[in-house]
Parts: sequence; C-alpha cells; structure tokens
Amino acid sequence: MSKKLQDLIRPEIKDMAAYYVPESAGLVKLDAMENPFSWPEEMKQEWLGLLSKAEPNRYPDPAAKELVEGLRDCFDIDSSLGVILGNGSDELIQLIVMAMKNGSCVMAPMPSFVMYQHIARSLGVKFVGVPLSEDFSLDMPAMLEAINAHNPAVIFLAYPNNPTANLFDDDDVESIIDTTDGIVVIDEAYQPFAMKTYMAKAQQFENVLIMRTVSKLGLAGLRLGFLVGHNSLTSQLEKIRLPYNINVFTQLTANFAFKHIDVLNAQAVLICEQREALLKKLSTFAGVLVFPSKANFILFSLLADSAERVFNELKDAGILIKKMGAVQGLPTECLRVTVGSHEENSLFLGAFASIYHS
Ligand SMILES: *Cc1c(COP(=O)(O)O)cnc(C)c1O
Repeated sequence: MSKKLQDLIRPEIKDMAAYYVPESAGLVKLDAMENPFSWPEEMKQEWLGLLSKAEPNRYPDPAAKELVEGLRDCFDIDSSLGVILGNGSDELIQLIVMAMKNGSCVMAPMPSFVMYQHIARSLGVKFVGVPLSEDFSLDMPAMLEAINAHNPAVIFLAYPNNPTANLFDDDDVESIIDTTDGIVVIDEAYQPFAMKTYMAKAQQFENVLIMRTVSKLGLAGLRLGFLVGHNSLTSQLEKIRLPYNINVFTQLTANFAFKHIDVLNAQAVLICEQREALLKKLSTFAGVLVFPSKANFILFSLLADSAERVFNELKDAGILIKKMGAVQGLPTECLRVTVGSHEENSLFLGAFASIYHS
C-alpha cells in the first residue's frame, strides 16, 4: 500500500493483529466452544421446509419482532426491559463501546474475552485491563482502585469468564456495580452451562446490561447475540444498531430453534455431564493442573511439559484445541479444550495420553 494510503489508517489499527481463527477442516474441533451435537433428523427436515419459504429478495424485519418475542419467552426477559439484537454478541460489544463519549475508557479483568480489548482498540478507545487474582477471582482492591483512577464508561465482566471458566463472586460483582459510575456489562455467553444469571436482577440495576449469545448453546452459525437492560439505556443504544443486522435466515432459524428450545437445553445438559467426566479424567494425569469449570470448556496447565508441543502434536493427530500462549495472568503452558461429544472427548483423551509426558 502506498504511503499516502497508509497514512489514512489510524495508527492503533496499523499496530493491531487481526483476530486469528485457525484452519480446522478435517479436524476434531475442540477449540471454539461450539455445541458438538446436530439436530434430530425430523427437526432438521421441518427446518429445511421452512427455509424453502424464506424470501432472500426481501430485507429482513428490521425489528425482528417474532425473534424478540421468542427470546423473551425462552430466556425469561421481563417485559419492562429493553432488548437489542446483535450479529453475535461481538457486534453488541462494538455497539456499546461505539456509543460512549470521546475520551471514554473501557475496563475488564485480565485475562478475559479478547474481543473487549480488540474492539476498544479498533475504535480508538482506551482499554484498562485489571489482572485477576491468582485463583482467577476478581482482585477487588485492584478493581476498585482502577475504577477510581480511570472512571471507566464501561466495565465488561464475563460470567463465567473466558478463558478461566469460573464464575466471579456475586458480592464482588455487585460491589463493582455499586461503585462504578459506568455501565457494567455482564457477559453471560456461557450461561447455558453455568445455570447462573443476572437476568432476574436486571431490573434492579439501572447501569447493568446483560449480554447473551446463542452461539455456545448450539447456534454459533447464526451469529445472534442480545443485550438486555433498562429501556432508558437500551433505547439510546438501539439508535446505532444497523437496521438489518439480523438477516432473514438467522431470524427464521432462530425463531424455529426457540420453538424447540428443549432440544438445545437437553444438549447443554449432556455437555455439562461430559464436562464433569472430562474434568475427572484430565485430573488423573500427573502434572496436569486442571481448573474448575462452569462453562463448556476446560482450562488446564502442564506443569512439566510444553503446551506448544502438546498442542502441535494433538493437531497432527487430528485434534484441534486452543493454545493459550503468553496470556497475561495465566500460568504458563496453558491449554483450553472445548467439551465435545463423548466420542470427541475420548479421541482427545486418547491422543493426549500418548502425547503428553509428565
Ligand atoms: C464466545 C464469546 C462471546 C462471543 O459470542 P458471539 O455471540 O459468538 O459473538 C462473547 N463473550 C464471551 C465471553 C465469549 O466467550
């Protein structure tokens, strides 16, 4: 690119690395917290029948009314609260940060979901990361001090947290909500596996937004997230949502899936059972430190082996997990594995047993 063109781009964007998604064709995919299960054949056929009636020549319903109703039913959203739809919750993170005044600052514990920082940087917004305690709980003195020092417009709390898989202490979360003058976004991406939520308390806190996604529940391909909060706040954010951000096929498929929410919920229960089995088996390896999980993934650290080597050899054996690399606040040599089906987990464990040296 010519110097002239280069100069048009904001320097912080030139300094950024693109969000990296590894090639996964042909591999057992345990890297991205997807639901491994497909739909019963009958349900699939019913869905295909509906799809044949979709009208791709028409714009989607800009308000996605039927979808919002379905969400309210499925996820117990009080009728007094506002709902904003996003093309994945990633888009909602962007929408929230975009709406803040110039000079605002965004805060999150570290390590946490990388998109908070990535999006803040891409929008030229200052990001402050506050290291978690060693046991991955919120470091409250540090959080409260950072809130005092930086007066963040937005604080993101992933509940459960990614990549550490734990739920933060409720007293800590509420103390942050009470202390800050900013908005607290409680990112409940893993709610289907944690069974804990702030949804019922959304009324109580005017400065809280509850963020959810259907990605981890089993609809990652749809790209659908939603944000719930007091109308006074959501009505402002709704103004900058792009009018047709939820496409025809996503609306149709999500409407259909919400009518069969029992199927997805039953799959989440199976995934939780598989998680417990996988936690137990991984913990039997000497020198593997396995962290507890309330999500559909497990973080573990190799005390005497190289995560890089194990990751690469697993990949050569056809199994893709996530190598955490040098993430601030994590022990060294950490890997993250998504909980898959019984068969996938067995393949992973079998390969791991032959690759790993304690
Ligand atoms: C996966 C994930 C998301 C992203 O969800 P999408 O709706 O697929 O964009 C958001 N927050 C956390 C903590 C996640 O792990």
